[in-house]
Amino acid sequence: MNDIVIEGDVMGTPLRVLLVEDSEDDAILLERALRRSGFDPQSLRVDTPEDMQAQLDQGGWDVIVADYSMPRFSGLAALALAQQSGLDLPFLIVSGNIGEEVAVAAMKAGAHDYVMKESLARLGAAVRRELDEAMVRRARRQAEAENTRLYGETRHQASKLEALLEIGNDLSATLDLSNVLQRIACHARHLLEADKSDVYLLDSDGETLRPIVLLGESANDSTAASIKVGQGIIGMVAESGIPEYVNAVFDDPRFGRSAAMPAAEKALMCAPLVSRGRLMGVMALERSTVSGGFSQADLDFLTILARQAAIAIENARMYAAEQQRTEELGRALEQQHELDRLKDEFIQNVSHELRTPVTIIQGYAELLDSGELGPLAPEQSQPISIIARRASALRSLVGDLTIILRAQAREFRHLPVNLGEVINLMMEDFRLAAVQAGLELKADVSSELDPIYGDCDHLRRMLENLVGNAIKFTARGGRVTVRLFQDQERLVLEVADTGVGIAADQLERIFDRFYQVDGSTTRRYGGMGLGLALVKEIVDSHGGEIKVISELDAGSTFRVFFPIGD
Ligand code: ADP
Repeated sequence: MNDIVIEGDVMGTPLRVLLVEDSEDDAILLERALRRSGFDPQSLRVDTPEDMQAQLDQGGWDVIVADYSMPRFSGLAALALAQQSGLDLPFLIVSGNIGEEVAVAAMKAGAHDYVMKESLARLGAAVRRELDEAMVRRARRQAEAENTRLYGETRHQASKLEALLEIGNDLSATLDLSNVLQRIACHARHLLEADKSDVYLLDSDGETLRPIVLLGESANDSTAASIKVGQGIIGMVAESGIPEYVNAVFDDPRFGRSAAMPAAEKALMCAPLVSRGRLMGVMALERSTVSGGFSQADLDFLTILARQAAIAIENARMYAAEQQRTEELGRALEQQHELDRLKDEFIQNVSHELRTPVTIIQGYAELLDSGELGPLAPEQSQPISIIARRASALRSLVGDLTIILRAQAREFRHLPVNLGEVINLMMEDFRLAAVQAGLELKADVSSELDPIYGDCDHLRRMLENLVGNAIKFTARGGRVTVRLFQDQERLVLEVADTGVGIAADQLERIFDRFYQVDGSTTRRYGGMGLGLALVKEIVDSHGGEIKVISELDAGSTFRVFFPIGD
């Protein structure tokens, strides 16, 4: 192997030529031919496979020009070596006695061109063309490689987006906070190929970050401790709210060096968990630097993930708070029901205990009052009749309480009732009361209407209360009107008066038990405030509806709607 140094044309195109040639003379001729074609060849001649291989390994060649036949080597064997090297170098064969078949075989084997020694003038043009083609091939390969890289990159991004979408779905599928946090840490660790993935949540003191999920931690790891906001890298990220990665954690001034510092360097990447401008915690991922540090793309991804995670945490917390509220409300409702039950039980017991003695008192008082047990002295007569009246009122109150409780418990009869007939039968008593009160009583009640189904006694009590109130709350000279008519599938009872009326803000409450618009002890009208509660209970138990319209000092109209038929 000999270096051939030939002073070249300084203006020529530099060309590094690997000559596979046994004859030095021929090599000189080849170089001259190239120089004549405008090249400035820097060439090296080899004539054995070993030397050629060594030069290929060393690299830096622009073109290979090989003699077809040599004593210890051949053009085709050299071609094979060049191909094996994987270098895409223009390969030209030169031969003195190349026949057409040999030339065809060489081209088939992959040589780029062949040139006869007799017409070396062609060599330069052939080399130039092959260099151009090699350049084109290289450019195409580069473009292909770039395409492949871009394709890979796009696929990678797409798969990350897909993963984010999946995480979004996955996180919204659960509302259990610890489960949500566990999943977040797990996804982050997996997608960002981290060795450790931790989630810290901010304590209610607003200063302490408490580790809630620690994935990949060894049991006695020091990072499992709580961190103060503003302390160390994680604490600083919490304070600044800016995601960050640090690829040489131990060199970072914020890293608190401890005696038990692990030997291997590590990379740390953190993102704050912020929802509606409020810090909720921090996600922290760790990689040993052996497996490579984090990149900006990793940080961007973690930032998006942290945003989703914050929303999921917020949702889980809201759900938990909502559930707690629902439970509390449920408990309060249960308590309320229990109180209602105790109250009803109490009323039931009291009315039960009162019924017999009150009936007896009323009975004796009336007996005394009637004089059947002998004449009463004048000073005895008035008190006795008061006792008899009051005992009778007390008895009807006890009766009302019993009706309310029965109606509420749906313990009543369910028989056809001709409401018109019932009203007309009661009209006599109403008229008497109206006359006593100095009122006009008008009635427009037909007894030809369809029956309703229910309890006659209860319906009678309802009428007594409505008409009784109308009379009670209307001043002398006023008017009370009772109407009963059919409106499609409903029977309508209307009791109207021209009395004191009810203020609009009281209308809702008059149906409450023991409620009176004027509940003072100095009130003008008697009563217990139980009448309308009883009316409402009876109407409800008959599947009906009651409405009232009223105007202060103008009067009130109570309308009751009953469904007709069974
Ligand atoms: P009370 O035993 O006091 O009559 P009610 O339950 O029957 O109890 O009525 C409750 C309150 O509704 C009454 O205290 C009264 O203020 C008002 N009220 C009922 N009916 C009338 C009416 N026709 N006109 C004016 N106010 C009425």
